[in-house]
Amino acid sequence: MASNWYKSFMAERGVDVGSHKPEKAQPGPAMDFENMRDNGVRSLKVTCVKCYKVSVVNMDGFDERLTLKSFEPKMVCRSCGHKGADVRPNWAEKRTRPFPL
Ligand SMILES: [Zn+2]
Repeated sequence: MASNWYKSFMAERGVDVGSHKPEKAQPGPAMDFENMRDNGVRSLKVTCVKCYKVSVVNMDGFDERLTLKSFEPKMVCRSCGHKGADVRPNWAEKRTRPFPL
């Protein structure tokens, strides 16, 4: 929630905070490997939609313009052989920063 000082601060700069309407979450552009690498992630977390087996797949060497979605129908589960998986960036890989104490 915007406080009053924030509203006037922003109004001075031509931004009417009060008129902001909540927007529906819009799917952004499909994530590709370039975007993923910019986020510090180099591997995919692939989850079988049938048996939920999770695999982490390193994607170094793949074209950075390929989207993650384009891999979903091509992934074949090593466990049950099902074709088609949920593909996401392996965000766990990003947690390399030491926990701040
Ligand atoms: Zn499976």
